[in-house]
Amino acid sequence: MKNIYLIDVTNRDGVQTSRILLSKLAKTMLNIYLDEMGIFQSEIGFPTLKHELNYINANLALAKKGAFRNMHLEGWCRAVKGDVELAFKNCPDIKHLNISISTSDIMIEGKFQGSKTWKDILKSMVEALKTARALGAETVGVNAEDASRTDIDKLIEFTHAAKENRADRLRYCDTLGADDPITMYQRIKKIAEATQFPLEMHCHNDLGMAEAVSVAGAQGAIESGVDAYINTTINGYGERAGNCDLVSTILALRYSHGFEDKVHLDEKIDLKKSWKMARYASYAFDIPIPIKQVGVGANAFAHESGIHADGALKDRRNYELYDPEDVGRGEPELLQTGRVITTGEYGGLKGFRHVYDELGIHFHNDKEARKILQLVQYANLHTQKPLTDDELRLIAEHPAEVSKILALSPRYK
Ligand SMILES: [Zn+2]
Repeated sequence: MKNIYLIDVTNRDGVQTSRILLSKLAKTMLNIYLDEMGIFQSEIGFPTLKHELNYINANLALAKKGAFRNMHLEGWCRAVKGDVELAFKNCPDIKHLNISISTSDIMIEGKFQGSKTWKDILKSMVEALKTARALGAETVGVNAEDASRTDIDKLIEFTHAAKENRADRLRYCDTLGADDPITMYQRIKKIAEATQFPLEMHCHNDLGMAEAVSVAGAQGAIESGVDAYINTTINGYGERAGNCDLVSTILALRYSHGFEDKVHLDEKIDLKKSWKMARYASYAFDIPIPIKQVGVGANAFAHESGIHADGALKDRRNYELYDPEDVGRGEPELLQTGRVITTGEYGGLKGFRHVYDELGIHFHNDKEARKILQLVQYANLHTQKPLTDDELRLIAEHPAEVSKILALSPRYK
């Protein structure tokens, strides 16, 4: 039986979205939480983009120190030789890459305007893939952008070319969210049967079906004897109507009739981390979680109408498919309503030490404390919102890497 693994793309597809943004410190926290949740891989950003480099290199350094348990940290770039070379020049320790190129006629004609043929697309992908391997990439995913509008025989040819040149997976991008669960299942099955190559589902929510399409595609892959990888984002943040939501996807694979007990979802996944993850992302992105959000919305376990409340009180299974505890809810949360000491951008040593004492973190002397305090001030300047306990812990535990994450030096030339 083949497995389904999750690759979260919040830190790439999520953050590139119009009008929503995330600080580099918050991106790092998401990587830490995704790792704690047992996610297979995080697409951490763009190794060809200057303002990402300190963040990416610091996260790769954190990985070297063992700050992440298992998760792959992967960078995204175009399937162009020069981009792959630049990615490795900028981030020599990067081990995992996804390289992307458009494969549909409509995009090849519409974007390249006659300057590239189908053969050029294949050539560019193979060259980029070989370059990534030669420069030391341990794994490479090859992305077919707009796969859902690409002729299926061409997609199979593209997948064969990726497989023959030592890629690890093909990412089928439903870039416009145009597939439905049935078309996705059928197309993924055809590619998997023809190539016997692991497949990634990358689905957008323009028709409100991103999770359904993703799990149907994964079903097609594993039935055809290949591993499936689903691309998710936290709270579904992503281009336009968003991407496939992380928590919904795990719940669908665990509890829907078609999957329950029949599908091997990566055993490392810890659904109980959902609540903390979703809440932090909402705070860091500054976007409220919708009241009806799957699993983590305020109403996900709320009952009021006469028949429902009566039924839920008699037996929760009358109206609940899974329990609040399954997604990490149910613990009371302390809200300080009296005196509170905080530390941040304009904080001093006394308040700072008090806050860290409460977290159980103590400093040997004032000199060491002052160094961390300065980082806290800059971190708060960087995030522009009160630092969370976990952010404060990260700063104290990994000051050198945090200092790098906070360092941005734009140049005007
Ligand atoms: Zn996308």
